Amino acid sequence: MAVERTLSIIKPDATNRNLTGKINAKFEEAGLRIVAQKRIHLTKAQAGVFYAVHKERPFYDELCEFMASAPVVVQVLEGEGAIAKNRDVMGATNPADAAPGTIRAEFAESVGENSVHGSDAPETAAVEIAYFFSGLELVG
Ligand code: ATP
Ligand code: MG
Repeated sequence: MAVERTLSIIKPDATNRNLTGKINAKFEEAGLRIVAQKRIHLTKAQAGVFYAVHKERPFYDELCEFMASAPVVVQVLEGEGAIAKNRDVMGATNPADAAPGTIRAEFAESVGENSVHGSDAPETAAVEIAYFFSGLELVG
């Protein structure tokens, strides 16, 4: 399995509840290394570009409002098979379906306010990392 990088976002519901440290501990315990991280407050337009793949979905406007409602922590996680590993640590989109011990099972409030985002494939990971970070900010 190759070493990969994936883009992670700790969402507003989690930053509001001071859960950044607890969520980062889950990543580190799973062997994912946080190689870049910053706290930012997205505009609704910036959130809209990030989630453009969902623009035809009924929840798109609500999702962009939510992502711009409070600060988020954007981060790059690195490790063996990091993209799939991070999705495992996150758990299913809907916390009602998330496996015990996953971030969403423990912390998410609803299918929309579900605490974390993680890239879903190598191509999306590359685009999403480049949206938030320059090469100089990735310090393995
Ligand atoms: P993410 O892309 O944030 O990592 P995901 O890949 O598990 O999540 P997607 O299907 O890509 O899920 O949906 C993107 C985000 O849109 C979800 O994480 C959630 O915040 C929101 N979302 C998805 N489905 C719904 C829904 N039915 N109602 C409200 N919000 C939703
Ligand atoms: Mg997704």
